[in-house]
Amino acid sequence: MHDLLVRGGHVLDPASGLDATADVAVDGDRIVAIGPDLAAGGWRQVVEASGLVVVPGLVDLHTHVYWGVPPLGIEPDPHCLRRGVTTAIDAGSSGSSTFPGFRRYVIEVSATRIRALLHIASIGMAQDSGPEAAPELEDLRWANVDRAIEVARAHADLIVGMKVRLSEAMLGDSAETCREALRRTRQAADAIGKPTMVHVGGTAISLAEILEMLNTGDIVTHCFHGRSEGVLDDSGAVRPQVRRAMERGIGFDVGHGAGSFSFDVARRALERGLMPTTISSDVHAFSVAGPAYDLVTTMTKFLHLGVPLAKILPRVTSAPARAVGMAGTVGALRVGGVADITLLRLERGDFLLRDAHGHIERGERRLEPVRVIRGGHVYECLPHPAHHPQG
Ligand SMILES: [Zn+2]
Repeated sequence: MHDLLVRGGHVLDPASGLDATADVAVDGDRIVAIGPDLAAGGWRQVVEASGLVVVPGLVDLHTHVYWGVPPLGIEPDPHCLRRGVTTAIDAGSSGSSTFPGFRRYVIEVSATRIRALLHIASIGMAQDSGPEAAPELEDLRWANVDRAIEVARAHADLIVGMKVRLSEAMLGDSAETCREALRRTRQAADAIGKPTMVHVGGTAISLAEILEMLNTGDIVTHCFHGRSEGVLDDSGAVRPQVRRAMERGIGFDVGHGAGSFSFDVARRALERGLMPTTISSDVHAFSVAGPAYDLVTTMTKFLHLGVPLAKILPRVTSAPARAVGMAGTVGALRVGGVADITLLRLERGDFLLRDAHGHIERGERRLEPVRVIRGGHVYECLPHPAHHPQG
């Protein structure tokens, strides 16, 4: 008697070379077989997947799930796990002073697998919200490198890198403050041997200068924002420094959010061959009711832009897993690997898709998560947040 059979779905995991109708067998928290006609034998639970796409549990590289502490925090299970995301990387909601609470009261009690990029600001994003609020790095004394290193080492099982937000809104318009914030973040990241995620857009120094300061494995998030100093220059061409940074192994992450995804920039970048390294939602309190909603809605926007599902999938599974050193753990369907599996339905219809700059386009296809399996446990997905009672 085995535990769980996911039967008859289109098993698709380009990074593992899987693209066929097959069953997936699970015992405990592990995948024990992938192949056709595994139904013989006894199964405690069978999940019918015919007509659905069976993919590795989705990994969202940019979320904010420290509910109740930063104003932008949302609850991980309804917005991540039950919308198809088995692993959520929290992008800097916590800092060295607030991480222990994040660990105990959110990460350890959530069904979503959560890892954290630690903010260089010790308060993380726990500042007040609104235009009058003092932002997290207005005073660089919050950027305490030694404390960040100490906490990241003490929680090395959950902290997968560092995070800094370099917008003027977060640290003022001084170029030197901006450079110093990035320097300190890099210093902490180098000490712990993990990557830095840098939030760009509305920044006091140029994108070229930021890229110069980054190393292989570091990540630029909000790569398709529609403000100045984006990946495209004023003529609409991809900046040569961006191409060079990609060649050096710097990741370009989507991080849709409430203000950081432009259809126009994304379309032009894709036309010029600039594919993002990872596709993430930047789902938080101010983007979860639109325009980002969640990771699958962000994936739908890339389908709409003409990117095939087989190219989208690695960017929401194996690539983000690799970016945070989890490639051996999550982001792939493989025998012996952890049973994190997402069942998606590709729907046809007439869907309104809004970017973060208010532009609305009509799409003909959309992805919706149906069921998700996390460590062998099956969860039903929730309806799209736009159709939620409170949505
Ligand atoms: Zn964010």
